[in-house]
Amino acid sequence: RVRVRFAPSPTGHLHIGGLRTAFFNYLFAKKHGGDFILRIEDTDRARFVEDLAQDKIYEALRFYNLNTDEGPREGGQYGPYEQSKRLDLYQEAAHQLVDYGHAYRCFCPEHRLDLLRKTAEKRGEIPKYDRKCANLTVENAKKMAENGEKFVIRFKLDKQNVQFQDEVFGTVNQCIDESDPVLLKSDGFPTYHLANVIDDRKMEISHVIRGMEWLSSTGKHQILYKAFNWTPPKFVHLSLIMRSATKKLSKRDKDAFVAYYSDQLGVLPEAVLNLMVRNGAGIQNFDSEHFYSLREMIDQFDLSLLGRRNLLLDADALHKYSRMAFQTARFDDDLYPRILEILEKNSFEIPEKEHIRKIVEFLKSKEENFGFLSSLTSGEFNWFFSRPQSSQLLCESYPDQDLPTILQELLKLETYNSETLEPLAKRHQLTLAKTMGIVRISLIGSKKGPPISELFEFFGMEECRKRIEIMRQ
Ligand code: GLU
Repeated sequence: RVRVRFAPSPTGHLHIGGLRTAFFNYLFAKKHGGDFILRIEDTDRARFVEDLAQDKIYEALRFYNLNTDEGPREGGQYGPYEQSKRLDLYQEAAHQLVDYGHAYRCFCPEHRLDLLRKTAEKRGEIPKYDRKCANLTVENAKKMAENGEKFVIRFKLDKQNVQFQDEVFGTVNQCIDESDPVLLKSDGFPTYHLANVIDDRKMEISHVIRGMEWLSSTGKHQILYKAFNWTPPKFVHLSLIMRSATKKLSKRDKDAFVAYYSDQLGVLPEAVLNLMVRNGAGIQNFDSEHFYSLREMIDQFDLSLLGRRNLLLDADALHKYSRMAFQTARFDDDLYPRILEILEKNSFEIPEKEHIRKIVEFLKSKEENFGFLSSLTSGEFNWFFSRPQSSQLLCESYPDQDLPTILQELLKLETYNSETLEPLAKRHQLTLAKTMGIVRISLIGSKKGPPISELFEFFGMEECRKRIEIMRQ
């Protein structure tokens, strides 16, 4: 049975690479009728950012409709799903490796390790633990532990070549020549390698699909599996996400984090997912001009088509998919609930559903509706929902004009376009642009916005008159 997991460390904001990993795990699981599991890898206490980070992870998965079958909140037969709640399992496993002779207790104090490190660095060598404690007899080590001496458990990692298959990178050869890694820390917490391997085994994970940055750990994981006498799962490493062919994403880039797309950019979730399968990453007969629904992506997903090519986080492509997402989104199911959510979050007054429908239809008829949902949140589109309440901006912007007369004349016009506004402009010795500025501020309370003709088309004369009336008060 296909069982895959998304195993983030709850360190704060979810990175876009994390979302992609979750997404490909999800696609693969759903394609094969398997299970998609969320496991929280929270054993690094220093980096751990509590439940808030878990909330964010769940929020993101929900936003992108990547529903998990098992996890800390949904439960499951293989739980608990937070590593910090599975410590006894790791301790037991680490001691088992000690019994097998693959690991040993190390009592070396920090200052000794420091000294080893510094000496190696002085010599220009890579620091390596000198295995002092590997020479203790098992009885001695046991006694010292019983006497309450602090220890870690280290894995005996002999220098060796490891070869394994990766579903994307093919045959991988790694030369392992490292210090004996710590499996279990003195506080009883496991390190990443131990916990990861134990859980993938205990949770019966069939395929480990994760970012390429973990490829270098996989050789060590293979050795651990062997030490336990377990068959490793299949490994699938996903290529990097880059800014451009030569430039990496920086932690300072706001678009490197998932929250940016939903909160700030306001794009629809499937636009981001389409971006991720771009260049045919794992999709049969990929067509870059087609906008894929999540269902289609599941149906057409094929792991063997995953490429090694890096994914470029390309703003133009996102723009394109965002527009396609908006055009194909259904009002009742996709857009209306989302807009309501945004309005509520920003404490806007909720207009009638039909009014919102009208806005959406209007925007769909325009080319430029990229990120329009975020415009709602930023207040740029306030005017859709409410009339400007004061003439302050108008008066400040046009202090030298006879505004009462101009407004009075605007009320008498039948339509607003350059032809009807030109004579008015001439009478008041104004440029056409300035006149349009007066109309725009009167209608939407902002200097920036769509062309006057579009505003007129959207509001109709009656609503325009109501808004201009407010300016006269
Ligand atoms: N906890 C690791 C992370 O934060 C998991 C890596 C893996 O999937 O093995 O990405």
